[in-house]
Amino acid sequence: MRARRPVVTALVVEDEPEIARLVRAYLEREGFRVEVAADGNRALESFAHLRPDVVVLDLMLPGLDGWEVCRRIREGSRAAVLMLTARDAVEDRVQGLELGADDYVTKPFSPRELVARVRAVLRRNRWGGREVLRVGELVVDFRRRRVRVSGRAVRLTHTEWRVLEALAGQPGQVLTRWQLIDRVYGESFEGFERTVDVHVKNLRQKLEPDPQQPRYVLTVHGVGYKLARSVGGAGP
Ligand code: CA
Repeated sequence: MRARRPVVTALVVEDEPEIARLVRAYLEREGFRVEVAADGNRALESFAHLRPDVVVLDLMLPGLDGWEVCRRIREGSRAAVLMLTARDAVEDRVQGLELGADDYVTKPFSPRELVARVRAVLRRNRWGGREVLRVGELVVDFRRRRVRVSGRAVRLTHTEWRVLEALAGQPGQVLTRWQLIDRVYGESFEGFERTVDVHVKNLRQKLEPDPQQPRYVLTVHGVGYKLARSVGGAGP
């Protein structure tokens, strides 16, 4: 077994202790695991070991500023980034979004709104920035949690949905079994990595025209699974 991890981790980068405390309290109340960094260099260190799902990033920081931190995070990560800015200048927002921030909140802000925005960027990030994915005859509607194949509605179990959601959020990209387990079970998982194979098999029974020769949920031997980015031919 490798180390378990909580479902959602957040890194709060903020040099004003009162704001950091407030943001941490609200996120923890929502079940996030939170770490706080008070300057840009510590933010990058924390990011490297924590590998958070979301970063709440103040722009005006001692050391490296928020823009630079965002740029460096984006060099190797798809983690959601929500910028906090005291300044309401349009250029700040544009620059932040160009550097890869997913959203921004202007200070002073309501903690409730901040939490709602964090949840929204996490959702969008999980779905690869889209609400509906179409691959061949397969349609995955993330928001409504609906799946159709060739116009026919497919009923999935909760676990099957989570597996498909994870794969469909990054079509064409391989996820290892452990990565899938993280997305599906989070920290509560106590079983074996091969558990994923059972759910994939069931998914294929429901989605694939020929489960023996899958066109949507593909095996990458020795690594894991991926969802096809496209399928060739019209199929039977
Ligand atoms: Ca600041």
